[in-house]
Amino acid sequence: MVRILNLGDAPRPVFRIIREKRATFLQTPAEVARRPGCETTWSNLLLAGDWTDTGLPATLEGSVRSGNTAAAKALSGCPPCLTIRPQRVHKIN
Ligand SMILES: Cc1cc2nc3c(=O)[nH]c(=O)nc-3n(C[C@H](O)[C@H](O)[C@H](O)COP(=O)(O)OP(=O)(O)OC[C@H]3O[C@@H](n4cnc5c(N)ncnc54)[C@H](O)[C@@H]3O)c2cc1C
Repeated sequence: MVRILNLGDAPRPVFRIIREKRATFLQTPAEVARRPGCETTWSNLLLAGDWTDTGLPATLEGSVRSGNTAAAKALSGCPPCLTIRPQRVHKIN
């Protein structure tokens, strides 16, 4: 990095590189092919999480996308047995 960024002898802050082996699942083609979609065989259960088939690696963006997908499916009534009733709105005076 020092050479790439051409930093020369400039003083650098103390740093540490940490490898977290369990940070994400193994993202080999075989493992990626096993990622489940949002819908399950149970009509009242939707999956969300970075490990589902989001089209992205196991990242924050992937988990947000999966949450959006699950929420959209729930709100659209798919699967059909899921009905989301609007919550009562409380007015704050
Ligand atoms: C060290 C590290 C660094 C990372 N850095 C980045 C980064 O720089 N950029 C990036 O995009 N992503 C990064 N990630 C990945 C990112 O954190 C994850 O992709 C993201 O947090 C996944 O969100 P999620 O909601 O799918 O799952 P999680 O954030 O894992 O949330 C799952 C939640 O479910 C809870 N839970 C589990 N089992 C149960 C149970 N039985 N009952 C009730 N609750 C349960 C857990 O406690 C947890 O709170 C990093 C991950 C790690 C570990």
